[in-house]
Amino acid sequence: MTTTTVGGAAAPVRPTAGTRRGAGLTEVAWDPDGFWGTRQRVNAEHTFAHCIAWMERLGWLENFDRVGRGETTVERAGWQFADSEVYKLLEGLAWELGRRDDARLAAAYDALVARIAPAQDPDGYVGTAFGHPGLPPRYSDMSMGHELYNMGHLMQAAVARLRTKGEDPLVSMARRAADHICREFGEGARETLCGHPEVEVALAELGRATGERRYVDQARLFLERRGHGTLAVRPLLSAEYFQDDTPIVEAEALRGHAVRALYLSAGAVDVAVETEDVALLAALERQWAHTVERRTYITGGMGSRHQDEGFGEDWELPPDRAYCETCAGVASVMFSWRLYLATGDVRYVDLMERTLHNVVATAPDATGTAFFYANPLHERVAGAEYAGEGVNMRAEGGVRAPWFDVSCCPTNVARTLASLHSYAASVEERTVSLLLYAPGTIDVAVDGERLRLRVDTAYPDGGTVAVTVEEAPAAAVTLRLRVPGWAREATVAGPAGGTVGVAPGWFEDARALAAGDRYVLELGNEPRLVWPDPRIDAVRGTVAVERGPLVLCVESTDLPAGVRLEDVRIDPDAVPRASGDGAVVSATVRPALPDAAGAPPYQATRPVDPGAASSDVALVPYHRWGERAPSEMRVFIPVAGR
Ligand SMILES: [Zn+2]
Repeated sequence: MTTTTVGGAAAPVRPTAGTRRGAGLTEVAWDPDGFWGTRQRVNAEHTFAHCIAWMERLGWLENFDRVGRGETTVERAGWQFADSEVYKLLEGLAWELGRRDDARLAAAYDALVARIAPAQDPDGYVGTAFGHPGLPPRYSDMSMGHELYNMGHLMQAAVARLRTKGEDPLVSMARRAADHICREFGEGARETLCGHPEVEVALAELGRATGERRYVDQARLFLERRGHGTLAVRPLLSAEYFQDDTPIVEAEALRGHAVRALYLSAGAVDVAVETEDVALLAALERQWAHTVERRTYITGGMGSRHQDEGFGEDWELPPDRAYCETCAGVASVMFSWRLYLATGDVRYVDLMERTLHNVVATAPDATGTAFFYANPLHERVAGAEYAGEGVNMRAEGGVRAPWFDVSCCPTNVARTLASLHSYAASVEERTVSLLLYAPGTIDVAVDGERLRLRVDTAYPDGGTVAVTVEEAPAAAVTLRLRVPGWAREATVAGPAGGTVGVAPGWFEDARALAAGDRYVLELGNEPRLVWPDPRIDAVRGTVAVERGPLVLCVESTDLPAGVRLEDVRIDPDAVPRASGDGAVVSATVRPALPDAAGAPPYQATRPVDPGAASSDVALVPYHRWGERAPSEMRVFIPVAGR
C-alpha cells in the first residue's frame, strides 16, 4: 500500500492517504462579526467558561480529583459519560488555542489537564465511573458503560493538541490510554466493543496524528466486531440501537441511535481511507445517500424518535416529534466532511452547510450560554422560560437551557465552533476550493507558495460573495467556488471579464492569478417555497420556506393578536418576499374551529373549508427561533385550500 502524506496546517481530520485536505486552523480567519465569526467569538469569550463552571459545580471535575486521591465512593457525580464532557471541552480549547493566542483560555486548558492527569491508572486506563473502590469493575458494562467512549474523547482532545502545539501531558495521557486499549481489546484479548461508538474515530485520528499505525488497526478491529450481536441488549435498547445488528459494510442505511450511528460512520470513513478499503467507503456513501434521501429533516437534523434518540424508518419524519439532537448535527458534519475529503463530491458539503446553519447554529443562543438539545420543527406549546438553578433534564420544551442532566450538546457545539473555519476551504494539489462562505481571509499554501484571498459577504443573510486575490503563486492555480444546490440562477463575474451563469456544483477557473483579481459570485437570496416529498406523511399538504441556506419558520411571536399558529395557512401561489433576515408570506387565517363537544376529532363528512381572512405572516430564520421569547413555532406550514 502506498500513502501520501498531505501535511498542511493543523485541523481536524488529516488523512494520510489521498491528496485533498481541509484548510488549516491558521489558514482561514473569519471576521469576528460575520455569521460564523460572531459565533466563534462568543464561543471563546463565554461558552468555554460557562461549561467549566457547570462541570465544577456538578462535581464532574471533582470526579477526577477523587480518583487521583484514591478517594472514590459510590457517591460519584454525574452519568458514566460525564468524563467525556471534560475531554470535549479540552478538545475545543485546544482547537481554539490553535487558531489564536488567549492567555486566559491557555491557563484554563493547563489547569484542566493538571486536574485530570492524576486520575490515570499506571496501566493507562482512565475513567472515573468504573474500576476504583466503590465503583463497578472495569469493562463490566460494555453496552452502556461508555468507558471506551470516554477515552475516545480524551484521544480526540489530544489529537487537537498534538496537531496545534505538539506533545504535552494530555497527549501523553491519550497515548497511554490508547496503548492500554490496544492491549486490552486487541487480537486475542477481550473480543468485544463499546456500546457508544467514538473510540473508533478517535483511534483512527490519533493513529494519523502520532504515526502509530496500530491505533488505526485497533479502530478497524472495533469496526469489524460490530454488527454481530455481541453487545448485551436491554428493553428499548436493541442491537440496532447500538448498530450491532448488521456489519457496517452490509448496512443499507443509518439506523438506531443517531449520534452512535454517525460517530461510527465517521470513524469508518477514516479507517476506510487509511486502509484503502474501497468496499467499506462505498458502503458508507450508500448509507449516507439513503439516509439523506429518506431519513433526514429539511434542517439537516437526524433522529426522528425521542424514545431511543434514534433514526426512524424511511419517511418517518414527524416535525413535532423530531428529535434532531444537536450532537447528531455535529456528528453528521463529521461524517459528511470525511466523505467530502475522501471523494470530493460537493453534495457532502451541501449537507454540511444545511446542518451547520440550521442545527448547529440553532443550538446556542446569542450569549453562548444556553442551548437546545433537541431541535424539533414544530412546537405546539411555547416552552416555559427556563428559570431554574439546576440542570434541565433534556429541554424538549422549546427553551434553551444552560446545562442538562445529559449535557453532551454544549461541549460538542464548543469544539465544533472552535475548529469550524477549517471546513471553509480545501486544497488539492494546485486546486483551492471555497466551501463555506463567511467574511474573512483564506491564506493557504499551494505547492509551498501562498494564495491569499479576501472574502467579503453577508452570507447567509446576503447572496453575494466577493473573492479578491491579495497574493498568488506565480504559476496557474485552479480556484473553485461552491455553488450550493439551492442556488438555481447563480452567476459569476471573474477576472476574465463578463458574467457567466453557473449551475449548482462548482464554478472553476484555472489561471495565473494576480493581486487585485476578483470574483463575484451572485447566488441570489430570495425566499423560496420548498415542498416535502409526498411520502413524508407527517407533513403532507404543507410547504416550507427557505432563504439561501437558511430554513425559515413561523413563530407565534410574530402573529397578529388573536391568530393561532394552527390556523395559519400559506398561499402557495404568492411568492414569498424577503424581509430582514427572513421573509413575509401571503397567508390565510382560518376562523377558529369549534370544538366537537366531547366528540373525537374525526367525522364522517369531509370538512368544508370555512373561508378565511388574508394576512401577511412574517417568517424568521429557524436558527434563532425561541430567542426573543418562548414561542409556538412551525417550519412546515399548511397550504390554503388543502
Ligand atoms: Zn447531545
